[in-house]
Amino acid sequence: MHTLRRDLPQREPSGRFGTATHLLDSLRAMGITRLLVRASVGERTALALPSWASSPGVRRSMQSNRPHGTSVEVALRRALFKRGLRFFKDRRPLAELRCEADVVFPRLKIAVFVDGCFWHGCPKHATRPLIHREWWGRKLDRTIERDKANSAVLASEGWKVVRFWEHQSIKEMADLTERFVRTRTASH
Ligand SMILES: [Zn+2]
Repeated sequence: MHTLRRDLPQREPSGRFGTATHLLDSLRAMGITRLLVRASVGERTALALPSWASSPGVRRSMQSNRPHGTSVEVALRRALFKRGLRFFKDRRPLAELRCEADVVFPRLKIAVFVDGCFWHGCPKHATRPLIHREWWGRKLDRTIERDKANSAVLASEGWKVVRFWEHQSIKEMADLTERFVRTRTASH
């Protein structure tokens, strides 16, 4: 069982990380980290069990919503790069928070996520598998809760959290991201 504790700095909390550590402690006290941990472990479990994707529809959804390297994320990064923006990809905005963003501007503290419609519960396209319905329901609910909790932690650390649905156009995503970058650059 992996726990967030393993990711926390071993030393006494201090400075920026200290704040995050305290926040995680508070969240843990509220039982939220357990939720985060279970969700991340659950995700690995689910990915290791593709046989559960027993209907073609579910399998297609899962395949088109892989956590990394989907064409949507790649296309967005390419568009941002073309616009002259420089960033990190697939990186934790906060070292101690088990949460990777697809595009990260560390200095400006902007974290961009492209959320898959299936995994993250897009209101337009998310369909819930009928097979193993309860298991999927719990799992997908946890993913959505974890997204919210991660966004809250990042925001509390001064990060601008930008979440897109994978169904949005690349241009729309790039336009918005660029606007946030320009705005934060101007105020830095
Ligand atoms: Zn969608």
